[in-house]
Amino acid sequence: MNTFPLTHEQLLELVKKYPTPFYLYDEKGIRDNMHYFKNAFSIFPEFREYFAVKALPNPYILKILKSEGCGGDCSSLPELMLCDKAGIAGKGVMFTSNETPAEEYVYAYEHGDIINLDDITHIEYLKKALGGKLPDTICFRYNPGPLKEGGNAIIGKPEEAKYGLTYKQMIEAYKTCKAEGVKHFGLHTMVASNELNPDFFVDTAHLVFDLVLDVQKQVGINIEFVDLGGGVGIPYRPGQKKVDLEYVAREIRKLYDSMIVPAGLDPLAICFECGRPITGPYGWLVTKAVHEKHIYREYIGCDASMADLMRPGMYGAYHEVTVSGKENAPKDHVYDVVGSLCENCDKFAVQRKLPKIDIGDLIIIHDAGAHGRSMGFNYNGKLRAGELIKRCDGSVVQIRRRETIEDYFATLDFTGLTDGSW
Ligand SMILES: *Cc1c(COP(=O)(O)O)cnc(C)c1O
Repeated sequence: MNTFPLTHEQLLELVKKYPTPFYLYDEKGIRDNMHYFKNAFSIFPEFREYFAVKALPNPYILKILKSEGCGGDCSSLPELMLCDKAGIAGKGVMFTSNETPAEEYVYAYEHGDIINLDDITHIEYLKKALGGKLPDTICFRYNPGPLKEGGNAIIGKPEEAKYGLTYKQMIEAYKTCKAEGVKHFGLHTMVASNELNPDFFVDTAHLVFDLVLDVQKQVGINIEFVDLGGGVGIPYRPGQKKVDLEYVAREIRKLYDSMIVPAGLDPLAICFECGRPITGPYGWLVTKAVHEKHIYREYIGCDASMADLMRPGMYGAYHEVTVSGKENAPKDHVYDVVGSLCENCDKFAVQRKLPKIDIGDLIIIHDAGAHGRSMGFNYNGKLRAGELIKRCDGSVVQIRRRETIEDYFATLDFTGLTDGSW
């Protein structure tokens, strides 16, 4: 857990200007973290990180990440457009979508983005969408299934996942694209989520390198980049350790030297599309205790809800909770810290040991910088929190305002109710 980047006094000042709830991000933390990631992988001839836009789809964050050399990994047209707004363009954009509408492929093609296909049938679909041609560069998403064919240790249960192509289809797909005149090829896989075991990523690289070599042998093409996906976890719980990316890079480099270099495939770019480990630990949801109740359990009711941060309610995910100004107070109370949704899973913390919480206390929910605000929703007529960032110079600026009732009503036209036609 990272320490909240403002003092109690600074936070008290801030909430006068920006009432709770809100997200706060830490620019310096995000930048330092990206330096760590880049340095770890600087032992490769080429390393690229395409930040998974869905984790924190804010153009100001994307601009910061772009200045750190990141591209963007997108799954939809609005995400592609956000990258454009932030100045992330062309081959800086990886379009890893699934069940993709034709017009989104057209947009990605016209902007020179890298298209990463999720199925073998999408070659024809893409060709048709683009008026009978294919892009110069194509990437395919590999689903290693039970991994018997890859000859590697079993990693998770990819055979139950809807994503990607089978081993045989991968070979076929590259053959087809070669025959169609496609010139540059990538290979992508993503078979984990929030994984903390560093060896997992080394095994994934092994599996991907195996396929790169098989494609070279069986199809006669040299894959130019591999995208090892996202899935790098963060230590949400006390006692968990962050993934040692220097170790991961060193181990993958060993495989690179023994597999890729002898095959004459060097330089092969090593890419990731991580979201969570880049911004997750550097974002906090700040909320206020507005109610308490004492029934069979002790409850603290917050002004934020699961509509602002869905992970605990949806996955039972653990997020550290601290109380501003009470960081060193004894944790001698046990609370359920809850939101206001009419859903009993709307609990930020369940039976958590915390210091005594008083009404008006500012409660900080940690590690909310990825898949936090972006997974929010409007159920129960909840208006989602805004986003602030602490800049490197210490100032705090708003990068997304909170939703208003007008936003909530924006998709409705009330005239039928007021002009008597309904
Ligand atoms: C969600 C996702 C990511 C990012 O995952 P993180 O856990 O945030 O790093 C990357 N690539 C794809 C295809 C995804 O679906």
